[in-house]
Amino acid sequence: MTGGAGFIGSHVTDALVKAGHRVLVVDDLSSGRRENVHAGAELHTLDICSPQAARLIETEGVEVLVHHAAQMDVRRSTEDPAFDAGINILGTLNLLGALANSEVSAERKQVIFASTGGAIYGEQETFPAEESHPARPLSPYGVSKLAGERYLFYFHSQYGLNVCCMRYANVYGERQNSHGEAGVVAIFLKKLLAGEVCRINGDGLQTRDYIHVSDVVRANLAAFGQSGFRTYNVGTGIETNVVELYGLLASAVGSELEATHGPGMPGEQRRSSIDSALLRRELEVPDPLTLAEGLALTSAWFRLNA
Ligand code: NAD
Repeated sequence: MTGGAGFIGSHVTDALVKAGHRVLVVDDLSSGRRENVHAGAELHTLDICSPQAARLIETEGVEVLVHHAAQMDVRRSTEDPAFDAGINILGTLNLLGALANSEVSAERKQVIFASTGGAIYGEQETFPAEESHPARPLSPYGVSKLAGERYLFYFHSQYGLNVCCMRYANVYGERQNSHGEAGVVAIFLKKLLAGEVCRINGDGLQTRDYIHVSDVVRANLAAFGQSGFRTYNVGTGIETNVVELYGLLASAVGSELEATHGPGMPGEQRRSSIDSALLRRELEVPDPLTLAEGLALTSAWFRLNA
């Protein structure tokens, strides 16, 4: 498990440990936190770009590489595309090369890759987007995730690695930070709980597909051990705009504060939602929580931990 000290990776680690797997966590703690790592997992504080991380994969008999470590800040990727590519492309290649070279037999090797449905499709032609929708990412982050998927296909065809590319929508939930694709949930919750006024960028009618982290965990568990090369959207198919999201968050924490509006973010994607019918049909993943259910869990956690 890479990125197992981060938001999503730590929840997936919890589930894998509970399921009885030996879990090695590789995380450099650049945005993750040591206290997020389940006591039953082994934390290796390493950069995914390092020879030590590659050696760990080669020598520890790793069968399933659940790859969540990434530079996942879209804004940072536009400011410094080379930094983003260094981690998301070269770091991924470092791990894939090590897995391909290890002694474990090819049919037992699998990569579950945390990709993005929120950023890979760009401005969508159809709503919600299916996996076959053209991928025209609008940010270097989306480009580097798409490159990761393409390299995975190469390693699948050349070395027989089994692969599941999991294209997450905007993931929110307990332990999330403000930098991810659903960072707005954490930003608004912290402000609302502190009694501060929230600022919505632009008209607030830009939409996203918000999925609770527990649904992402269920998708990872279902992907575990699947053969072949597969690509799944992991979302709800429902668009929610920022004004609606703010209203749900304010009612979840019992706040009557009104939000203000600031200038829009230049180049921000306008609408996004992804269709997960394939995931639910092929991997029998249950329907996701409603946004109100997920936000109730998330706000309860922020109330205790913010
Ligand atoms: P996160 O920042 O909480 O987790 C990323 C983890 O990777 C952190 O623990 C960080 O310390 C670690 N990391 C970063 N660079 C590293 C490096 N060079 N070497 C080792 N560890 C490193 O982010 P998250 O929201 O949990 O995202 C997890 C994955 O899911 C990422 O790959 C992200 O691109 C993807 N994803 C997230 C969302 C979302 O809405 N949060 C949506 C789509 C895809």
